Amino acid sequence: MLNKISKKKFNLLLKNKKNEDLDFLKFSEDFLIKKRGFIFKQPKKGDKVILLLSGGIDSVVAWAVLMKVYGYQVYPVIIDRGSNKRAKRELSAVRYFEKYFSKKYPEQYIRPFHLSVNTVAKEIIDTLDKNNITPEDIVLNYKENKFLAEDNSNVVIARAKGVSPYLMPFYGVVYSDYLKFIKGLDIHTILVGVNFSDGIVVSSQTFTALRSTLLSMCVATDNYKWNFSSVFLERETGVYMDKLEIIKLGNKLGIPLKRTWSCYNDGIMQCGDSCATCIDRKRSFYLAGIKDETYYRPYLFRLIKDKVKSWVFFFK
Ligand SMILES: [Zn+2]
Repeated sequence: MLNKISKKKFNLLLKNKKNEDLDFLKFSEDFLIKKRGFIFKQPKKGDKVILLLSGGIDSVVAWAVLMKVYGYQVYPVIIDRGSNKRAKRELSAVRYFEKYFSKKYPEQYIRPFHLSVNTVAKEIIDTLDKNNITPEDIVLNYKENKFLAEDNSNVVIARAKGVSPYLMPFYGVVYSDYLKFIKGLDIHTILVGVNFSDGIVVSSQTFTALRSTLLSMCVATDNYKWNFSSVFLERETGVYMDKLEIIKLGNKLGIPLKRTWSCYNDGIMQCGDSCATCIDRKRSFYLAGIKDETYYRPYLFRLIKDKVKSWVFFFK
């Protein structure tokens, strides 16, 4: 069910991809083999794994794949950023799928755990307040990321923004410890739902970054048992998937993908046209040839919102 390619093809794709570091990959993998004899080991059916869950398409489909296709006991963990508005939207998507999967796969279902951690520094949020963003920043953002900046929520200016997604998997290690204390479980496999193209926009989600995370987990805990990878991107097993393949797979599994949340903005509906993830989502549905039933904010609604905003600015 998962898209697989040869190692040769995988290497060629990595070679042609921006942001990947083949030297680091070789160094880290050689080191892991020397240290423990393997790079990544696919767990066996029935094994326990931890999944980092966000409420977006990739991690929700990953959750279903791990239960249904691989037959694992999946312990999903959500990094709950509480008051963050976008996080609230992601959280309500997660709540929907909690109910959905508990009914669909009652035998395998394990309730996701909410770990309360705010991974974004308040000072960074304050600095990126829309009043501090200059038109030059917005143009630069557009040039670099190819999507329009509506407000601070979807501007990727600060390098520091790559830090937050990089930190997430380490909370999988924290959750593993928690499960050991509370339930006496020993889980060393931590998985994420990163796809091949994610690393193009966010450098901390490249295949190189995945390997670096695995190595860091081992070094930081002085424990070389950790098994970390993406459900959709792993050279050892040949799994190679982009969002469109993930959408096709989700559709095949009958998952209501319209209920997942990708948007960087925090409206009632996803923006559909002003953030990288919405644009990628729409494009991927189109390329997959699957009808996109997501409720996007209508264009007229955005037009009115922008008009009101400009009037408020005028009378200030
Ligand atoms: Zn959006």
